[in-house]
Amino acid sequence: MFAHRFPLLLFPLLALAFSPVSAKEKEDKAPAGQGPYIEYIPGTLPLVISAPHGGYLKPGDIPDRIGGKVEQDSFTQEMARAIREEFQKRTGGTPYVILCRLHRVKLDCNREIKEAAQGNPTAEKSWRDYHAFIEKAKAEVEQKFGAGLYIDLHGQRHEQGRIELGYLLSGQELALDDDAITKQAGKTSVRELDQRSPASFVDLLRGEVSLGALLDAKGYTCVPGPTVHAPAEGELYFPGGYDTQIHGSRDGGTLSGIQMECPFVGVRDTKPHRENFAKAFCEVLTTQYFPAHFGKPLGPQKAP
Ligand SMILES: [Zn+2]
Repeated sequence: MFAHRFPLLLFPLLALAFSPVSAKEKEDKAPAGQGPYIEYIPGTLPLVISAPHGGYLKPGDIPDRIGGKVEQDSFTQEMARAIREEFQKRTGGTPYVILCRLHRVKLDCNREIKEAAQGNPTAEKSWRDYHAFIEKAKAEVEQKFGAGLYIDLHGQRHEQGRIELGYLLSGQELALDDDAITKQAGKTSVRELDQRSPASFVDLLRGEVSLGALLDAKGYTCVPGPTVHAPAEGELYFPGGYDTQIHGSRDGGTLSGIQMECPFVGVRDTKPHRENFAKAFCEVLTTQYFPAHFGKPLGPQKAP
């Protein structure tokens, strides 16, 4: 009897041990209280990273969304995790990470709730959890560090293959000259960082120490940046969506936001590419972007 039952009991245990949800992922899980579909990983740096479109889960009790975009931003969840690990290696600190683990066909956290969840209560709860976790991270960063940076991480496959940085300025607005674009600073998701940084708005956006310039120098062409100020007429470009509007500093607060839309080839497509990008991103933020604009390197807060 036991001889038969034992292997039967053992099998699920073995399956669990070798399932793709590794022990590493389990220890990344947030404390009790969160819903099953949103993962919140607390951080120790003034950096908040969210990935709304990198989820895989398609539970049967949430109907498929109708009408909106439903494509996943492939490997953006993995990118967020790779970036977090790289920061931990380099600085000993970690960014706050918020992941929607539902596939976009079930929930789109980068839209207002009606279009995002289409009236399904489980999807609506997950949407609320996702945004509440970003706000929780934001409140902690503002309280502990005074100010910080929010990156909403996405993927696109536009043919130019550039990283599209969204500050809530349209492609046409990015093409404005220095004087005209400076007048737009107050309506961007980096409104507060512009006031805080000694750099001019133009320099923050496309000057030598802009995020675009720093990533350009690592081999990742960005728009906007010093090389490409704006998309050409007819080129697709994402200026920043709901997350960037709501959680950046446009409407107040000291967490400034940038939507980072990564191309697939060379950035998201393979683990080594994702790790290379994570290294470059971590290096430029830590050693250049934060010192230039926040007045200090990006590192964990020292005990007083
Ligand atoms: Zn997206």
